[in-house]
Amino acid sequence: PRSGFCKSNSTFYSKRNPLSLPPHPSLDVTTFISSQPHHGTTAFIDAATGHRLSFTDLWRAVDRVADCLYHEVGIRRGDVVLILSPTSIYIPVVCLSVMSLGAVVTTANTLNTAGEISKQIADCNPTLAFTTRQLALKLADAISVVLTEDEDGEEPASGLRVVGILSEMMKKEPSGKRVRDRVNKDDTAMMLYSSGTTGPSKGVISSHGNLTAHVARHLSDKLKRDEIFLCTVPMTHTFGLLGYVMRTVAMGMTVVVLLRFELHDMLDAVDKYKATTLVMAPPVLVAMLNGADLIKAKYNLSSLRTVRCGGAPLSKEVTVGFLEKFPSVDIHQGYALTESNGGGAYTGFVEESTRRYGTAGTLTSDVEARIVDPNTGRVMGVNQTGELWLKGPSISKGYFKNQEATNETINVEGWLKTGDLCYIDDDGFLFVVDRLKELIKYKGYQVPPAELEALLITHPDILDAAVIPFPDKEAGQYPMAYVVRMSESNLSEKQIIDFISKQVAPYKKIRKVAFINSIPKTVSGKTLRKDLIKLATSKL
Ligand code: AMP
Repeated sequence: PRSGFCKSNSTFYSKRNPLSLPPHPSLDVTTFISSQPHHGTTAFIDAATGHRLSFTDLWRAVDRVADCLYHEVGIRRGDVVLILSPTSIYIPVVCLSVMSLGAVVTTANTLNTAGEISKQIADCNPTLAFTTRQLALKLADAISVVLTEDEDGEEPASGLRVVGILSEMMKKEPSGKRVRDRVNKDDTAMMLYSSGTTGPSKGVISSHGNLTAHVARHLSDKLKRDEIFLCTVPMTHTFGLLGYVMRTVAMGMTVVVLLRFELHDMLDAVDKYKATTLVMAPPVLVAMLNGADLIKAKYNLSSLRTVRCGGAPLSKEVTVGFLEKFPSVDIHQGYALTESNGGGAYTGFVEESTRRYGTAGTLTSDVEARIVDPNTGRVMGVNQTGELWLKGPSISKGYFKNQEATNETINVEGWLKTGDLCYIDDDGFLFVVDRLKELIKYKGYQVPPAELEALLITHPDILDAAVIPFPDKEAGQYPMAYVVRMSESNLSEKQIIDFISKQVAPYKKIRKVAFINSIPKTVSGKTLRKDLIKLATSKL
């Protein structure tokens, strides 16, 4: 095998640099990132305004914001800080400064409703939120906020305490007092929310050691450093935050940031900033493919070498179609999950793999992998399909305040059960075949069926419900509900769709409903989702 191999106990790992990471200094991840030598000058560019943040500006701002947070706001090691803010070139400043204090970053999607955000707040209990006046309306009264935009406007909702404005914090001369508490490598640095294999969203505990391992791996993988990335994935999701904030900053690379995704703005920006790499979830690639002829006539994409795609499966047809239309561009695919902190697989390590359609690439050098029969627990070999398990220094230790979910997902030896059905071929390439877990991915966004089911059964006319993924060309999947109505109810599909859409972020909306007499379940009461998926898709 060229790129991965199989030990006698059927554990796979990368041949490039098998688990030979540099020893991690016991530092907080911000200090680790800031201490990397590099020759980069521009860290972030706002695509719309052209405003640039140099590495010098970035680190000065990180120090100043950390100083204000510590001395003026009173943020201490272990405090949770919520980021509920649109993407901007200043989000990295916030993340890096919060983590430098040993405080914990958590993020919420700006599309989430007040109800969804309040559940997250009740779970992780943040001391402070970075947000805008507009978005602050979605927050509970009790929380203190730092405004990330300095637009004028009315004071946010009653009771909210504005304790600072980010742009002012970034300008403030440091107090000269000592800022940092001692941070240990096992302290939590970040808590992004993911539903994992089952149930509602949970806080994934990422330690400073996990994140340092993620960054260190990239430094040792020696991928090309002269890239200019144009990033369309949100900085609040693991893909954007680990890949295009932490890693790129450590490596001295430039990231052009698109604040709001719009296809034509993105293509304009490629030309304007001579971007070499576009970073996106699969639906954006589909949109580029659909508009390929017009795009090629209108935009100069000659600087573009690579499209990096991840977060959801990318079909072979889309890949082949795209490469035919854009022959000078390579598609790199990455596979990871919130719980693995960037550990997983990537095609860009092996030159030829970018044209090996359908693979998610070879294993990253910091993970070991197993393929395990989900029914018997038997460890499988090459070319055999089973659940992918991952182990390594970037793998999360578990879910916040949820030992039960942690025990179900990460076993005592530290293996993370990904909930993805995969196989690894003779050459060490990973293929993701299907998803065993409940999770639905709409345009790369997580939609936990359990959350929608819990809302559905609060409707007085609904006796029982199950939510499953329904395949869709553009979005990948969307949520579909099977509903058991109370006897004599004539509740309609539209009423159900409306009932849910008022309560959830637009990407979580139920887009299709079918009525059924009873939800098929196992004897232990677990919904037989696969049966419902079969039923729903049998007519396709
Ligand atoms: P998240 O935690 O939101 O990043 O979601 C992780 C999940 O997204 C994985 O467990 C997979 O089910 C799916 N996923 C991510 N990348 C890929 C990929 N390249 N191919 C197929 N599925 C993917």
